[in-house]
Amino acid sequence: MNIPFVDLEAQYQSIRDEIDGAIAKVLATKQFIGGPEIRDFEQSFAATMQLSHVVACANGTDALELALEALDIGVGDEVLVPSLTWISSAEAVSRVGATPIFVDILEREYTIDPVQAAACITPQTKAMIPVHLYGLPARMSELKELALKNDLKIIEDAAQAHLAAIDRQMVGQLGDVITFSFYPGKNLGAYGDAGAVGTNDSKLAEKIQKLSNHGQLKKHQHEVVGRNSRMDVVQAAILNAKLPHLEGWTQAREQVAGWYGKYLPPAVQAPEVPDGFRHVYHLFVVQVNQRDALMAHLTAAQIGCSIHYPYPLPLVPAYTSLHQTGQHRVAEKVCSRIVSLPMYPEMKEKQVRAVCESIRAFWS
Ligand SMILES: *Cc1c(COP(=O)(O)O)cnc(C)c1O
Repeated sequence: MNIPFVDLEAQYQSIRDEIDGAIAKVLATKQFIGGPEIRDFEQSFAATMQLSHVVACANGTDALELALEALDIGVGDEVLVPSLTWISSAEAVSRVGATPIFVDILEREYTIDPVQAAACITPQTKAMIPVHLYGLPARMSELKELALKNDLKIIEDAAQAHLAAIDRQMVGQLGDVITFSFYPGKNLGAYGDAGAVGTNDSKLAEKIQKLSNHGQLKKHQHEVVGRNSRMDVVQAAILNAKLPHLEGWTQAREQVAGWYGKYLPPAVQAPEVPDGFRHVYHLFVVQVNQRDALMAHLTAAQIGCSIHYPYPLPLVPAYTSLHQTGQHRVAEKVCSRIVSLPMYPEMKEKQVRAVCESIRAFWS
């Protein structure tokens, strides 16, 4: 059975009329920049995530950069970043002129280790970027306590964590700012690049809005030096069509995770979810011995699998010059053992069973 890693086609077919209609509407109105599609998306996504303000922008990497800039983080500042994450979480810090300080991760949750984070704080530390990796919230209450004690800003990277929550409270409530990506494969995915920044601070929201649109709130009133990081209107229309389905898709992901829990052999270490945390399973990442051989076996059986991510960030060439300051002992161990299995809302129980049977066959 050929089982893809993700299946964007299945999702498109399930909502084809809504998507085609949304795109046709943009083409009919010719409102290609700004306007009601963008405003509607900002308002409905803010309501969905229980945030007072959402500013749409061009992509999730820009969202992080805009958040850092709006918080006045720049040259000479240090920002705590987990050692295991997509490169954007560190790249944005470097782009604003600050230095990412890599902090090791929790071995079973894969998110930033609050104890190690505390040990990395110096007088230059201005902020931290907890990443809700794979869809599981970071340990926000411990991190919030640390931030309050040391006067640090918190930028939550929720690129993989739309609707993730702790004790029924959406992520984003304990941080100063939260950022999202709508890259096509994300839990809420556009058909191109798109991103957003959320906050409950209206001044900060205004600053982000300004920075993302040439330093202006009103046309030709350039109050600060900004940039162009606007969300594309076609993408906003697609996201407006998709947003009402997000909760259903998230529940479907949870069900797929449940089937994995039922059928995976004991040799595979499945994701662990702390009490009260809502994991939204952007990725279904397990740990195994003989990872590379297992991946070869799955690939031969036409089962999609991948590694997120193969290297701790302190060990990628772009960051090896910071190596001596980077913690990555746990991240490095985890990187040699993790494999991401197929996960998408349209996945069927028999497909999950087939993946698990193939894994079982490898071990026996
Ligand atoms: C996808 C992703 C981003 C960046 O989003 P883009 O929209 O691709 O720029 C940032 N952080 C994490 C953790 C991501 O997974």
